[in-house]
Amino acid sequence: MKPLKTGLFLFLYLLLSCHNSDLDEMKSFLTIQPADSIVNLDAGASSIFYTVTSDKSIRAVSDNPDWCKPSLSNVTIANLKIAVSENEMFQNRKAIVSVKSGSENINISINQAGVQPLISVDQDFVFVRCPKLEFTLEITSNVRIEFELPEWITERKDNAWQKGKKKYNFTISTLPDEMSYREGVVRIKPENESAVNHLVLIPVIQRTTPKIIAHRGYWRVPDYPQNSLASLQRAFELDIYGSELDVWITKDGVVVLNHDPTINGINIENSTYSALQEVRLSNGEPIPTLADCIDIVKRQEKTKLIIEIKPHSTVINENRAVAGVLELVDRGGIADLVDYISFSQNICKNLIANNPRNRVAYLNGNLAPEALKAERYWGLDYSSGVLKTNTGWVQTAQNIGLKTNVWTVNTTADFEYFISMGVDFITTDYPQDLKEILLCWE
Ligand code: MG
Repeated sequence: MKPLKTGLFLFLYLLLSCHNSDLDEMKSFLTIQPADSIVNLDAGASSIFYTVTSDKSIRAVSDNPDWCKPSLSNVTIANLKIAVSENEMFQNRKAIVSVKSGSENINISINQAGVQPLISVDQDFVFVRCPKLEFTLEITSNVRIEFELPEWITERKDNAWQKGKKKYNFTISTLPDEMSYREGVVRIKPENESAVNHLVLIPVIQRTTPKIIAHRGYWRVPDYPQNSLASLQRAFELDIYGSELDVWITKDGVVVLNHDPTINGINIENSTYSALQEVRLSNGEPIPTLADCIDIVKRQEKTKLIIEIKPHSTVINENRAVAGVLELVDRGGIADLVDYISFSQNICKNLIANNPRNRVAYLNGNLAPEALKAERYWGLDYSSGVLKTNTGWVQTAQNIGLKTNVWTVNTTADFEYFISMGVDFITTDYPQDLKEILLCWE
């Protein structure tokens, strides 16, 4: 009986063993809800949740844990959370989360889209007028940005990137004296991204503030007649660029101030200086000589004299006037403090021929900037009407290195018009008013 009994136990054991193994197989399970095995996310996604059911302990791992981190709240019936960090890169990325339970394994493929750079700026153009040396851009961006700047623009140190809207500050270097204007471009792009379709370009223009020239002195006040020593002195006290005045040469070679060819009925060109001795201006001054003016200029060594040599009746007289003026300026040692202007091309060419460094601007308005450049003029000095008609001339002139002056601008609207146009000089009967307006602009 003993072998039979042993065999029976063995049979029962095998039967039971076999039965348990089948049971195990039937009871082993791992399910996950929702059952999606591929999940597509946008760049800003954060977390995905699943319910995992299993009869065994569960593990969840990611093949790319830097940005995709699964965690389980318990080991049998679990809440699976896959924490996903925002994708700040432009490329799409992929991770696989494996949920394991015993021999069971479910893979979830996580595909996250790359971020699409969205960069916008509060303005599409920056205009900076000297002496201001900074500007601000308010930039909205969902990606880290960097700037490519002209060498004369620098980024301020406090420009750390911040997602969303932020003000970024820039510093501009001083405009060189020989330049009245320059332009460059601020290029804003995603950091380390060269794709041109994500580039934002902001043009930046830097201009000088127009310099003020008093027209015939500062004479729009009682007892300061135009082209008088008193009005010249008063203009100098304004601390402006310069004062214009008009000159003629007498028959005997004295350069005197006056706007018209005659004074008190006496033709200046045809009279001697002694014949003008009786003339008195409205404030009692005798007719001033250029020599008197040069004495005033020498005393202050700052404000410039803009000498308009009037067109005389003959070329000979014009040439005498040029020679007389240059001789006085040379003798006074104030060449650096004098600019020359004239309606006469003969006078202008004569001044330039005498010394190409003489700063000569043409007044008559009938020559385009290129023609002036070809004749080696320093600049143009045209009426407001001419420059309002030829609106591109100031820019053209500056592009080819000519200075630009406009006369005679006397209204607030015109001041603002020509400040906006970017002229280098404004000649006015109201230098004090223009000075106040420019202070507001700055
Ligand atoms: Mg004049």
